[in-house]
Amino acid sequence: MTPKIARFLVEQQPATPCLVLDLDRVEANFRAIRNALPLAQIYYAVKANPARPVLERLVRLDSRFDAAGFEEIAACLAVGARPDAISFGNTIKKAIAIRRAHAAGVTLYAFDSAEELEKLAANAPGARVYCRILVGNEGADWPLSRKFGTSVAMAKELMLRAGELGLDPYGLSFHVGSQQTTPRAYELAIGKVAMLFTDLTEAGVNLRMMNLGGGFPTRYRDAVPEIDRFGDAIMAAMTGHFGNALPEMLIEPGRSVVGDAGLVEAEVVLVSRRDRDDPVRWVYLDIGRFGGLAETEGEAIKYRITTPHDGTELGPVSIAGPTCDGADIMYERSNYRLPLALRTGDRVELLSAGAYVSTYASQGFNGFAPLAEHYL
Ligand SMILES: *Cc1c(COP(=O)(O)O)cnc(C)c1O
Repeated sequence: MTPKIARFLVEQQPATPCLVLDLDRVEANFRAIRNALPLAQIYYAVKANPARPVLERLVRLDSRFDAAGFEEIAACLAVGARPDAISFGNTIKKAIAIRRAHAAGVTLYAFDSAEELEKLAANAPGARVYCRILVGNEGADWPLSRKFGTSVAMAKELMLRAGELGLDPYGLSFHVGSQQTTPRAYELAIGKVAMLFTDLTEAGVNLRMMNLGGGFPTRYRDAVPEIDRFGDAIMAAMTGHFGNALPEMLIEPGRSVVGDAGLVEAEVVLVSRRDRDDPVRWVYLDIGRFGGLAETEGEAIKYRITTPHDGTELGPVSIAGPTCDGADIMYERSNYRLPLALRTGDRVELLSAGAYVSTYASQGFNGFAPLAEHYL
């Protein structure tokens, strides 16, 4: 928790649940990423937290933006981002969204299939396009599975086809999975994609760019490697493959920019036991899976939790949300332990909740309002 957030919580006692985020920490994170990879252009992945104050701060730092839909593009333009600093990075786009982006001056688009390429040629003629390659997501706590990306062989055909369609075959991309905790994952992915890059260049395609995606981790319950370790691994792999002829490098960090800049302030609604002798207490908070904590699915993301009784004796707990849905359980198997003194009405903090929380909150399921947000 940053001093600014601590002061806000004491002085304002905001109604819970709410997200409180320190924009200075966003800036510090952005600068740390830029220092770790000074040769890369940073395209902030807007979906991690699209709040206007976050985008405004990042525009001031000359960030570029990775957007998933036209609404995100519009949000970036509204805070003064230049259209040529926006990448339309979703490989699954409606034709109308492509047309609108093209009309707004966006010139850079992702794809991973023949049909999407045809759509781009029809609705954003002449655009710079990059093909997303499917790479391993091992080591990622929130993998992106096989939903995106194509094989090296098909990517080669598609990039050759892009030129025939009048598009500019600009580069290749990958994503090693979100909350990726092993720098080695980037080395392996770069190895795979760099070979295709060289292959296409030799086939006469004027490729200029490698997009290394996002995935850089933020600290939750367990420690993660520093951003510099990822920067070093990436630069070693890139120079290993390209020597002095490095292509333009893009990265699309989301979680690592905003994650540890924010926390969720929540209240304990109930502490109960299934049986008098059951050692495990159930702790129900006023936020759960439907209030924004979607990444607790499968107990994938494990938030650090602080309470007013920290430092006193702990006991095992299961932790759940306040709705009447049986899926609204955050942690049952991850060995969470909270103070035995914890009671109804206590305020608790879920740390590093600045990414992938506010926009995951439901629109009034069970009558619970969407998550309140405070940007400091
Ligand atoms: C979600 C996403 C990102 C951001 O990933 P993080 O793990 O939050 O850094 C980057 N690029 C693309 C294409 C994405 O879909």
